Amino acid sequence: MQAKDSSAPFSAHALPSYLNSDHIGPWGNYLQQVDRVTPYLGSLARWVETLKRPKRILIVDVPIEMDNGTIAHFEGYRVQHNLSRGPGKGGVRFHQDVTLSEVMALSAWMSIKNAAVNVPYGGAKGGIRVDPRTLSKGELERLTRRYTSEIGLLIGPSKDIPAPDVNTNGQIMAWMMDTYSMNTGATATGVVTGKPVDLGGSLGRVEATGRGVFTVGIEAAKLSGLTIQGARVAVQGFGNVGGTAGKLFAEAGAKLVAVQDHTGSIYNAAGFDVNALLEHVQKNGGVGGFSGGESIDNQAFWGVDCEILIPAALESQITKDNADQIKAKLVIEGANGPTTPEADDILTGKGVLVLPDVIANAGGVTVSYFEWVQDFSSFFWSEDEINARLVRIMQEAFAGVWAVAQENKVSLRTATFIVACKRILHAREMRGLYP
Ligand code: GLU
Repeated sequence: MQAKDSSAPFSAHALPSYLNSDHIGPWGNYLQQVDRVTPYLGSLARWVETLKRPKRILIVDVPIEMDNGTIAHFEGYRVQHNLSRGPGKGGVRFHQDVTLSEVMALSAWMSIKNAAVNVPYGGAKGGIRVDPRTLSKGELERLTRRYTSEIGLLIGPSKDIPAPDVNTNGQIMAWMMDTYSMNTGATATGVVTGKPVDLGGSLGRVEATGRGVFTVGIEAAKLSGLTIQGARVAVQGFGNVGGTAGKLFAEAGAKLVAVQDHTGSIYNAAGFDVNALLEHVQKNGGVGGFSGGESIDNQAFWGVDCEILIPAALESQITKDNADQIKAKLVIEGANGPTTPEADDILTGKGVLVLPDVIANAGGVTVSYFEWVQDFSSFFWSEDEINARLVRIMQEAFAGVWAVAQENKVSLRTATFIVACKRILHAREMRGLYP
């Protein structure tokens, strides 16, 4: 479905340039996804422009003293895309390629994702343009604390709740929680999620995104007649998301045959020893140099023989240039925005079933929601309870999206957008315009 919403009551040329629908990159991709869903929104389409403009954008200068005595300045962002259904929610990314366009798209995908699994949040995202691997631990801590203070205008347990994303982790969340708490004068564990368990974090949060990827993958395999036993799996990105998903698929009887990350691509037709690979990554920071497989060309990774492909790294990895090479029957998007709209069409045309990010990787924010609820009530659940609730939410959300896709004869991405955008815009309409 390629339809553009020609009835939109505005001219794209009247928009600030960063909102233009011809914008190239993640935000432009997101806008195309919204255009595809608009014909299915009925009378709520009247409000669709809401989804095409982030509610609030904060750009901050983050100066820190480096270990060598110089002062370095980094650019940071926090974007609240939509707050109709609840406080802002979404991670913080530290990466050298972070841009405003990227953070805007990531914040919008959070709005869609949170509505798709029906957790009571809007969507937000933050980031700093920095390669954290170049910083000492002290520099990283100063950067995190200064950034947290700068975005302190926007965040809070009932306002906007950050979490880990690419290159951020429990330690960074602990510094963010502490900085916010020191600035406001009271310990506020619920201001961020993905914290260490000893600081109000939740059991199961670290593995939650990968577990969600696995859960929807199993559901889709059942519905599409794909056997997991012996299925060959290729994973791009072997961090928190890809590593956990790869391990869970291997434990379920699949074979992890190819992995790519920023250190290279590796292949083993017989399947890797996943625990040995995870240990290697833990020690060496990446899959490169792993002795349990052969090194392959980064381009060749996309064409490996496999049934399941899990992009779990960054956005715009599957493009019109490599989508044709893909042999998988099932693509499960662990990353946010890994497939461009053109590539999405190529995959659909080849009969590949794509489980879109906005449902497939929602396990992380679902357990973030559990963490936030536990922090508010200061009552903590067992890991079994968390995993069981996570699986139930993911299965129910996926079944709902599957039914909408069948009913409307649309892709699972458009179906997820239909479910989510209706929830967001219904809330928007009920709240009304004020003042
Ligand atoms: N960064 C994760 C995501 O993209 C988790 C966000 C959260 O837990 O708030 O979904």
